[in-house]
Amino acid sequence: MQYANRVPELFGSMVFGDRVMRERLPREVYRALRRTIDNGKSLDKSIADVVANAMKDWATEKGATHFTHWFQPMTGITAEKHDSFISPDGNGGILMDFSGKELIKGEPDASSFPSGGLRATFEARGYTAWDPSSYAFIKENTLCIPTVFCSYTGVSLDKKAPLLRSMEEINRQALRILRLFGDTETTHVSTTVGLEQEYFLIDRAQYRKREDLILCGRTLFGAKPPKGQEMDDHYFGSIKPRVAAYMAELDEELWRLGVYAKTEHNEVAPAQHELAPVFTTTNLACDHNQITMALMKRVAERHGLACLLHEKPFAGVNGGGKHNNWSLSTNTGVNLLEPGDSPRQNARFLLFLAAVIQAVDDYQDLLRASVASAGNDHRLGANEAPPAIVSMFLGDELTAVLEAIEKETPYSPRDAEIIKVGVHILPRFPQDSTDRNRTSPFAFTGNKFEFRMPGSALSAAGPNTVLNTIIAESLSQFADRLEGVADLNSALDGLIREVLKRHKRILFNGNNYAKEWVQEAEGRGLSNLKDTVEALSALIAPKNIDLFIRHRIFTEEELRSRYEILMETYSKTLHIEALTMVDMVNKQILPAVIRYTDSIVQAALHKQVLSGSLSTETETALAERLSSLSGCLYRRKNRLESALVHLPDSDDPQVLASYYKDEVLPLMQAVRESADELETITAREEWPYPCCSDLLFCGISG
Ligand code: ADP
Ligand code: MG
Repeated sequence: MQYANRVPELFGSMVFGDRVMRERLPREVYRALRRTIDNGKSLDKSIADVVANAMKDWATEKGATHFTHWFQPMTGITAEKHDSFISPDGNGGILMDFSGKELIKGEPDASSFPSGGLRATFEARGYTAWDPSSYAFIKENTLCIPTVFCSYTGVSLDKKAPLLRSMEEINRQALRILRLFGDTETTHVSTTVGLEQEYFLIDRAQYRKREDLILCGRTLFGAKPPKGQEMDDHYFGSIKPRVAAYMAELDEELWRLGVYAKTEHNEVAPAQHELAPVFTTTNLACDHNQITMALMKRVAERHGLACLLHEKPFAGVNGGGKHNNWSLSTNTGVNLLEPGDSPRQNARFLLFLAAVIQAVDDYQDLLRASVASAGNDHRLGANEAPPAIVSMFLGDELTAVLEAIEKETPYSPRDAEIIKVGVHILPRFPQDSTDRNRTSPFAFTGNKFEFRMPGSALSAAGPNTVLNTIIAESLSQFADRLEGVADLNSALDGLIREVLKRHKRILFNGNNYAKEWVQEAEGRGLSNLKDTVEALSALIAPKNIDLFIRHRIFTEEELRSRYEILMETYSKTLHIEALTMVDMVNKQILPAVIRYTDSIVQAALHKQVLSGSLSTETETALAERLSSLSGCLYRRKNRLESALVHLPDSDDPQVLASYYKDEVLPLMQAVRESADELETITAREEWPYPCCSDLLFCGISG
C-alpha cells in the first residue's frame, strides 16, 4: 500500500487514545474514564485496575516491556523512571503485570530534581500521579504515562500541575460568563494551543567538534559569518534532501504518537526550520511539544544531524522562538475569540477580547517573567524577536472598532450609527489580514492570539499557566460585576468601554523593533523588564502572589521555590558557559594561535636564512597582531576565571544571578571579542573547530 494511504492508520498507533480505550475497556469503565478526561472529574479507584490491565495488554502487544511515569520537573524537560512489567509468578517464571496502583502513583526520588527552597521541608520524598487527560503512549518499548509530580505534602514540583489547575480555573470563570449570555448548553471551556516550534539543524560531525554546542547548546565563540540571512534565500529556498528526509521521519514518528504535525518549512535564518502542529487542548499541546522537542533531537542523531533548540545558537542570525497560539473553545465547538454574526455573539466576543486586553495590561510583568531564561535574553529585544516590552496587536480594523466603541463615535463616516455592544453587529473586518504585525509580542490573528515571546527551548506549560490565570482573573472580575444586573447590554457596553479606556495603552499596532517604541512605551507606563534577573522578580511581587493564591494555581511557597529555581538556573547556565569558554581558550584557541604564530615566525626566519633581502613585512605584522590579540585574550580569560572563583557570599539567589549578569556576562563578551577577532586572522586549517559559517552553510550538503 502507498505510504500516504497508511498515514491515517499509523496516526496515534502508539497512543492509548480514545479509539483503543473504547475497543478495549468495558463500557462503564470507558464512560467513567471519558468523564474524567473531558470534565476533569476525579477517577474512581476501582476502575484503575481495569484500565491498567487493558493498557498493559495493549502495550505488550505493541512490544513494550517497561512502563514509566513521564513527568515534567522544573528542569523544563521531561523525566522518566523505568520499571518493567515483570512480576514473579511464584513458580520460577514471570507474569507481565501492571496494577491500578502502579498506574495511578509512582515514587521517583525527588531529591534529584530542582525544588528551590522546598528541599528542607519535603525531605526529598515525592510522588507522581497519573494525568488521565493526557493519553499514555509508547516510546522505545516503554509505556509512558503522563503524570504530575509533587512532594508528599502535596506541593507541586512540576510544570504540569499548575497548568492543569489554571485550565480548570479558566473553565470555571469562562462558564460564569457564558451563563450570563444565556448559554446553558456548554459544560466545559478549554483553552486551545498550537505551538510553532523553531529549530536549527546542523551536521553532527561538525557539532561534535564544538565543546560549546555540546555543553551549552549554543556557540560561545564565532566570528559573524560573511553571509547571514540578509539575502532571505533560506526561507523561500527548497528544502535540502537530507533535511527533507529528516522531516519525513520526524513527521512519521510524531504521527505514531498522535501529534498533529502539520507544517514543516524553512525559517528565516540559515539552517533554521519550523514545525507547526494543528492546535489542540493546552495540556495535550504542551505534552506534545515536549515529545516533539525530544524526538527532534533523537531523529536528528539517526540522520547524522544535530538539532539545536537553544534560543540563540548563533550570534548574528535570528534565534529560535516558539510561537504560542492561544484561544478558548467550548465543548460544543465554539471558538470564543471568533467574531460572530449576531449582536449577541459579538458582545460575547468583545467581552472575551476585553478580558484578554485587561489581563495582558495588568500582568505584563508576569507574561514577561513566564518566558525569562538566560537563553531567551539573547533573543528578546534583539530586533529579530519581540522586544522585552509586552504590548498587544489587534490590527487596524479591530482597533478602529474598539476606538469607536470607547469614544461613542460612529465607526466610519458611511456608518453614522454608534456601535452599542450587545445591540449591534460588528462591521466586517478581514479575518486574516495579510499585514499581520510580525514584530508584536502578542498579536490577535483573526480568532486566536499569538504569543511570540517564548523561546524555542522553553516548556510551554509556564506561559500557558500564566495566560490562563490572568485571563481567568479578568473573567472573574467581569462575572462579579455582571452577574445579577438588570440590563446586560448596557452593563456590557459600559464595562467594555471602561476596560478600553483603562487599558488601551497596551494596544500597539506599530513596529515593535523601532527605537522610538521603547520611549513611547515608557511614556505609556508599560514595563520594560530587560533581562531574566529583572523579570523574575515579578513572580514574587505581592500583587502576583495574591493572584495565584486567589485562583489556587500556586501557593506562596510554590511560587517562591519556583522563583529560586529559575534564578539558580540562570546563574548555573552562565557559570557553565563561562567555564566552557575558559576551557576552550586554554585547551583549543590559545594552543592553536600559538602554533600558528610560531609557523609564521618560522616562515620569516626561513626567508631571512634564504636571503636577507626578502621582505618579512607580512609575517612580522601578522605575528605581532596575533601575539598582541592572544595576549589580550589570555588576560581577559584570566579575569573571567578569577570572577568565577570570587563569587558573592550570599544566600539570596538574586544576588548571585545579578553578579553573573553584571560581572560575568560582560567578561564573557570581552573574551569572545578577542577570540572572534583571532578567528578572522588565523588560517582556517589551524582553527581548532568549525566556524559558524561552516556550521550554517556547509554542514548539510545535497
Ligand atoms: P501562521 O500564519 O502564524 O503560521 P496559522 O494560521 O497557520 O498561522 O496557525 C499557526 C498555529 O496556530 C497552528 O499551530 C494552528 O493550529 C494554531 N491555531 C489555529 N487556530 C487556533 C486556535 N483556535 N487555538 C489555538 N491555536 C490555533
Ligand atoms: Mg506564527
